[in-house]
Parts: sequence; structure tokens; C-alpha cells
Amino acid sequence: LVRLDGADTALLHALDAPGPEAVRTGMRVRVRWAGERSGAITDIACFEPHEDPPGVSAQSPGRAGAAEPAPHDGRFDDMVTGIVAPARLDYVYSPGRAQTAFINALADRRTVGERCPSCRKVYVPPRGACPTCGVATSEQVEVGPRGTLTTYCIVNIKAKNLDIEVPYVYGHIALDGADLALHGRIAGIPYDQVRMGLRVEPVWTDGGRYPDHYRPTGEPDADYEAYKELL
Ligand SMILES: [Zn+2]
Repeated sequence: LVRLDGADTALLHALDAPGPEAVRTGMRVRVRWAGERSGAITDIACFEPHEDPPGVSAQSPGRAGAAEPAPHDGRFDDMVTGIVAPARLDYVYSPGRAQTAFINALADRRTVGERCPSCRKVYVPPRGACPTCGVATSEQVEVGPRGTLTTYCIVNIKAKNLDIEVPYVYGHIALDGADLALHGRIAGIPYDQVRMGLRVEPVWTDGGRYPDHYRPTGEPDADYEAYKELL
């Protein structure tokens, strides 16, 4: 790592030194420029040990009398080809037209999907295109709020940072009018009484941006034929 005079951070680069014994923390180095320069980082061929002339300190970068460094031919005996370093990526998720409409509708506690103009299937949440037909979708369709539990699992392992007592039920819910099941937690019923075909409705909590869970509506169970394509 080389901290250039005047910089607050160091950069990683090759140092042309005969061996580890010739290198020490705090030693002074200078850039050895590439023979041909193009205005890119590769213009720095490497760094090389360099003693400041008498009377010039690290705090006074004016190098009166310093000899012009010799260009480097770009060849190294033991070239560094890779490093391992921690990395972090911050990003802003931009959901696009279809999912923006979906999220905005959720703010009004409505669920909005989009219908494929070709196969007429209603996708929830919408992706903006039908994955089967490959055509764009634009017709918005409100679905639910009630739906049918098509399949589910009983969760017995407590998740880190999740304040839900086990066992609980997580399942696929086909909202009325939707041709794709979404998933959510099922509550308001003992876990061992949950069953395929159970009719459910969303339960919202104050400030929630999506349903906290789904609970039974009390309606008769849906017929298997009605949801077998949505498992
Ligand atoms: Zn389609």
C-alpha cells in the first residue's frame, strides 16, 4: 500500500524491490512511469524505492534535483495477478413501471396485477411481461383481497431477527383473480388445522407496507380443481 504525498488514503500497487528484506513500512517510494502513457491508471508501471535528496522531506514534495525516473518495460518476474479484499456495494433498487404500480397499490392496501394480452393470465406481483408468451403486459387488474391457500409448510426453526413463535405456517396464496400464487404467513388458526384449499384474507398492521399475515375467512374450503394449477 502506497500513500502518495498529500493523499489521505493509500493505493495498492506493485513495488519493484529485490526482496522482502529491502522493504519496510515507512520507506519512501516514487512512481515509475510506463514507457507509453495514455492517461489511465496503467500509466503507473510500478513504484520503486526512492530516497529523498538531502533537505527534501516528505512534507515538501518539491523534488529539486531529483533525477527523472527511468521508464519501465512493463515486465515483472513475479507479477501480481489477483488480490483478495473485502468489498461492499450500496445500491438503490428501482423496481420499474409494473412493480411500482404494485407497490403503490399496496400502500392503499390493494393488490394489483397485470393481465397478459395473449394468454389472459393475471400475474401478481407483475413483472411487466408474461414469462410464458414473452409479451409486455399493461392491463392492470385488482385481485383479492381474499384468496385460497394452495400449499404450505410448517416452520419449526426460529429465524434470526424474526419475532414469530414456532411452529408457524408459511404458504402459497392464490388471491382471487390471480393466476400466480404469492407467499405469506398463515395465522389465526392452529398450525395443525391448516389445510390446502383454506380460504384466507390479509391482515394488515398499522404502518405495514404489505399484509402481516393471512387468516381464515370462515368460507368453505375451495375445491382442489379450482387451484390445482396454482400450487
Ligand atoms: Zn401470456
